[in-house]
Formats: sequence, structure tokens, C-alpha cells
Amino acid sequence: MIEEVLPGIVRLEVPLPRSPLKATNSYVIMDRERPLVVDTAFNRPECREAFVVLLREAGYTSDSVDYFVTHLHADHLGLAASLARNGTTIYFNEPDLPLARPDDSYWKRMGGLYEEHGLPLSDSREAIERHPGRIYGPEGDYPYTIVHDGDVLMRGGYTLQCFQTVGHTPGHMCLLVREHNTLLCGDHMLGDITPNITMWTEMTNPLGRYLESLDRTAALNLSRALTGHRSMIDDCASRIAELKKHHKQRLEEVIAALQGSEKDAALVTPDISWDLRYDKWDDVHPVQKLFATGETVAHLQYLEATGVARSSYSGGRIVYDLVASD
Ligand SMILES: [Zn+2]
Repeated sequence: MIEEVLPGIVRLEVPLPRSPLKATNSYVIMDRERPLVVDTAFNRPECREAFVVLLREAGYTSDSVDYFVTHLHADHLGLAASLARNGTTIYFNEPDLPLARPDDSYWKRMGGLYEEHGLPLSDSREAIERHPGRIYGPEGDYPYTIVHDGDVLMRGGYTLQCFQTVGHTPGHMCLLVREHNTLLCGDHMLGDITPNITMWTEMTNPLGRYLESLDRTAALNLSRALTGHRSMIDDCASRIAELKKHHKQRLEEVIAALQGSEKDAALVTPDISWDLRYDKWDDVHPVQKLFATGETVAHLQYLEATGVARSSYSGGRIVYDLVASD
């Protein structure tokens, strides 16, 4: 389905088969000369077919548009790079660029890192084997056009300002429609689920960076945020407050889990409340376990950066304990 969300800007809901995210919201900023598509979907045939049909409904073909991709995740970038032809511009941010098409050595390195954080090798191997980022990413490299915070693009009569929101990924970039004070916000903020904040070898204290980005976003006093998945956000101030509260509660759960003994992230993870259905932690799907462990690491790194916890290396594992307060 397509829906006009602002005059001359339509949302395409591109289904993501078998993904808990259900669909990616792709936006088309109509323009007589060169429309701009913000975010696409996985590079897989089902998404490609659906995207092409929806784009045609909006009046365009995949090679008559340019693309702006908010971040490196395959459910936003995957299809853009495979649909683009010579002469098609894909705007993208610089910090995410080295991870746009991760190779086998990257996945091996990440697998090793998860193992150091206590995730069993069998789980991390299976998770990486089935990781959507590995399966549905771009097929090849692309000469992306790099945009920086504050850069302005003009399309469809709108002034579109790049607004960097580091945290969900190392270089996540939103696009502010200045005339409506509305943010095309990718996965920086979501309406009914919380964006995944995980560990990165390219970014220290991702949760700290994310919370800073939420504060910068709050200062925009947005009228509305058009999200990368599911529902839109009409009351941005309240949603930002909820997201901050969510992370504060999760930090408290991590602190509670560390009471009394040092633990690695994989041992802390089952003690945290997750939005997952399961009876026993062992039954959780390895990909979900990996995502959850990554979230726990991001929270542990925040506690370390703020002096509440400290990490040490013991027996090939990274373990955390609480710093005693006087
Ligand atoms: Zn994402």
C-alpha cells in the first residue's frame, strides 16, 4: 500500500517476509526531475518485487529515482544498492560505509567478540549464518555519495537537511523536512518497538551516543517523525521520554543482575526483560540471543563509561562487576 504522509511525500510499506519487523517504511519525495527514495528493504526477490510494484503505484521506476539510505542495515540499504544503475545517486553516511557490505572476516571477528562476551560458539555461529545482514545485504560495492550532518538536499520543493543520529549504527543519518519540521528518522526512533542498540567495534559507548542523539532530536521540537518500521510518531517529545525511560529501566536490570558477582554479558542477558516470547532462555532463537546479548553489552559499556561498572578480561572472557560506591 502507498500513503501520502506529507504533500508530495508518500510512504511505501515494503513487506519483510518472516521478519518480526514485518515491513520497512520506504518514503518517496516526489520530484518532476529526480524523485528521492528514503530507505528500501532487504535485497531479496520478494522485497524487490513488492518495492517495484509500490514504486510504480507512486508513478516511478527504480532507475528514475535517487536514494537516501539512513543506515547500513540490510532492511534499509540492501535493495537500494542492487536497484541502482549507473547515474543513480545513493546518499549515505561515512561512518557506516565500511560496514555497508561486511565480508567474511568481519563476521568472524564479530563471532569471536560475542564469544568473548560469553555467547556459546554454537549460538554465535548459527546466528551469524542466519543473520539477515549477511544474507540480504548489497551484492556489490557502490560509489555512494557521502553526506554529512547539516548537508542540505533540495527535492520536490522541500529543503531536506541531513541530521546525524549516532547510536543505532555508527553513522545513522536522518533527513529533516524543514518546511514541516518532520524527521524521516529511519531506525533512530520507532513508534511501537524500541530500536536495537548494540555493540560495535567501530563505536565506543553506543548507548551513550544514542541517548545524546535523542537529546539532540528533542531539541528540534519536531512536529512528527516518519519511522523506518510500523507506526509513525506524532508526539515526539513523549516518545523520546519513553525511549530514555526504557534504557534507564534496562540499565537498572543490568545493575541488579551484577549484584553479588561478576558476570559476562551472556550470563546477564537472561535476567533482562525482553520483548520475546519464550519459556526457557535456551529455547530463544540464536539470532534473537545474539541481538539480546549485543544490547546487554551496549548497556554494560554505558555503565562502564559512567563509572558504575568495570570490565576485566578473565579466562578468555570479558566480565563485568559493579564498582563499589561509598
Ligand atoms: Zn536498523
